[in-house]
Amino acid sequence: MENKPLSSPSRQDDRERLELIIKATGVGIWDWQILTGELSFNERWADIIGYSVDELHSVQFETWASNLHPSDLEKAKQLLQQHFNGETDVYEVEVRMLHKLGHYVWVFASGKLIERDASGQPKRMIGLHLDITERKQYEERLIVSSQLLNESQEVAKLGGWELNLVTGLLFWTDETYRIHETSPDKFDPTVDAGVGFFLPESQVIISDALDKAINQGIGYDLELETYTTKGNKIDVRTTCTVEMKDGKAIRLAGIFQDITEQKHVLRKLEKINLDLEDANSALQLSAHYDSLTELPNRNLLTDRMQQAMSRCLRSQRSVAVAFIDLDNFKEINDKYGHSVGDALLKQVAKDIQAEMRSGDTLSRFGGDEFIALIDDLDSPSDSDEIIDRILNAISTTFEVEGKLLSISASIGVTYFPFDNCPPDQLLRHADQAMYIAKQHGKNQRHTFDIEHDVATKQHAEELKRIGLALTQNEFELFYQPQVNLITHRVVGVEALIRWHHPERGLLSPYYFLPVIENDVLEVDLGRWVIQAALRQLHAWSSAGIEIPVSVNISPMHLQHPRFTSELADMLSQYPDFKPNSLHLEILESSALKDITQASKVIESCGTMGVLFSIDDFGAGYSSLTYLKRLPAKYLKIDQSFVIDMLKDMDDRAIIQGIIELAKVFNLRVIAEGVETPDHAEQLLSLGATLAQGYGIAKPMPVSEFSSWLAAWKTAPLLVDRSE
Ligand code: C2E
Ligand code: MG
Ligand code: MG
Repeated sequence: MENKPLSSPSRQDDRERLELIIKATGVGIWDWQILTGELSFNERWADIIGYSVDELHSVQFETWASNLHPSDLEKAKQLLQQHFNGETDVYEVEVRMLHKLGHYVWVFASGKLIERDASGQPKRMIGLHLDITERKQYEERLIVSSQLLNESQEVAKLGGWELNLVTGLLFWTDETYRIHETSPDKFDPTVDAGVGFFLPESQVIISDALDKAINQGIGYDLELETYTTKGNKIDVRTTCTVEMKDGKAIRLAGIFQDITEQKHVLRKLEKINLDLEDANSALQLSAHYDSLTELPNRNLLTDRMQQAMSRCLRSQRSVAVAFIDLDNFKEINDKYGHSVGDALLKQVAKDIQAEMRSGDTLSRFGGDEFIALIDDLDSPSDSDEIIDRILNAISTTFEVEGKLLSISASIGVTYFPFDNCPPDQLLRHADQAMYIAKQHGKNQRHTFDIEHDVATKQHAEELKRIGLALTQNEFELFYQPQVNLITHRVVGVEALIRWHHPERGLLSPYYFLPVIENDVLEVDLGRWVIQAALRQLHAWSSAGIEIPVSVNISPMHLQHPRFTSELADMLSQYPDFKPNSLHLEILESSALKDITQASKVIESCGTMGVLFSIDDFGAGYSSLTYLKRLPAKYLKIDQSFVIDMLKDMDDRAIIQGIIELAKVFNLRVIAEGVETPDHAEQLLSLGATLAQGYGIAKPMPVSEFSSWLAAWKTAPLLVDRSE
């Protein structure tokens, strides 16, 4: 390639080079004949606004002007005028020109007047056009985004700062000024001024931090308190990162944020948290302590009991649980009002506690009840002294709000592990014992009777079992004949209850009747017996066996208000019931409290055809009143006299007396316990003809009765009267 020295270019070369440059740089060229208005341009000029040269062959200045954005026209004309006036050396303007496609493109126009006419009027001007659309758009975006940045910094109250350590220049962003309640035109920030705004305590911290940043290159992130230029106190977060060069800090930069609001919310939150903690601990306190006396309440007591109990089990020692109930506290409360009552309780609580050892627990159980837990005892009696001291401390006169109040206490005590129960039951036992102390006259203590408690529990169990036996049909009536010793006739049978116990076998009434005494079960069982006897009576009658049945009735059952009506109901179920076929045996006993009522029952039952016998006469009460007032038909001599009459002359005499007495009251006598023919003989000699006893027959189940009856009819007489 030919290499021409640049220093001597030919005109042709210059031109070519220029064209190349113009093409390569994308510059539009224009040449304006000002006087004629004619405008010539190159290809690129037309291309910038979307046209080809041919399309724009006759462009006038007016055409160009009308192509400008209306907002830019004035500015362009003005600058042009200034240039024409010679005020500027070069004409330069940035304007928007209408593109062929309808949008505007940004154009940088620059030109120079190169010729004037003779009168000095501008004649020719040349210049260039550059498409600066892209640059303009970028600038706009930059403006928008920096505005956005500024606005968001303002919203976040997040400012920034920069310190050039080389020049010493400190730069604050707009927001940093705003945070300081100032602006760049009013305030010239310096490091000293900035630090000077901080509150004294914060000043020490920030100075130290800046020192470390500058000298050691260590950044920071601090929350401090500062004043604004107007003297308002604010909370700020200020951070610093350090730019190092050659081991030296050259630039510090960081954020500066107003966190007053956050701090305020945080402080509020902290306060709420503290309040919450307070409320929680108050709640905790009320969950475990009595608010009046500040003593442990029931919840805490149960806890303490459990601990004391397991401790004592480990160490083989014992715990006393003392239930303390104030005597007559209610009267004081009613008479003097609650405030006096409360004050008294507080005082009592204090005095009881003073008598207890430090490790023991006194708890307010409720109202005027306290529980003293006396722990770690060698033996139960070791607590006696303490409990006595408590009794004495309470049994005194208290002065409360100027009133003299005399009270005392009843204390019930139980001891673990002798009373080997869980806490709630121990408390119940102590409570029961306290109740007994009250019944015994107050101002004393009573110890829970474990053995009695065990018996009570056992009794309850037995009752339950008997009730079950009734529903499971485990009872049966046996029958024991009653005969006339002279005629040999069977005059009746006594129904005697038996229990077929699944485990213990056949049980006589002595095993279970005493258990149900005075319990409702006594009446239930009594009803069952009457019904069973009536059923049997009906069955025998249907089979042609007409024998009266005697049924034993307990005093409680007889005295039941609905006894008569219930019996009537039962009888009504057997229309074939024959009068005098049912006898009811009642015990001659003190349990028959209301003789008037009993005699009424006997009378009204009598109208239904039911007869009565006085059972076991002579064994108990033996009151003539009975014989006189109870309209019974039979008198049964207690078997104990009969059995012994052969050896015991006294018993014989008693039997004789009873027989005479019966005559007086017009009662027929039946002798029980006729075990041998000798008994029968003796009785006959005394004038008693009706007898019942093993010598005749033992009580037997129904199934055996018919065969016994058949055998009896053919059997020899019990007493041989042939002689
Ligand atoms: P009780 O009414 O005086 O009945 C007579 C008791 O003496 C029966 O005892 C009977 O077996 C027994 N006995 C009869 N003859 C002789 C004898 O010769 N020698 C001896 N040692 N004993 C004889 P059981 O059946 O054990 O009844 C005992 C008591 O239980 C009865 O005395 C009666 O008071 C009561 N009882 C029995 N069944 C019932 C019942 O269904 N209801 C009620 N309320 N009490 C009943
Ligand atoms: Mg009887
Ligand atoms: Mg009897």
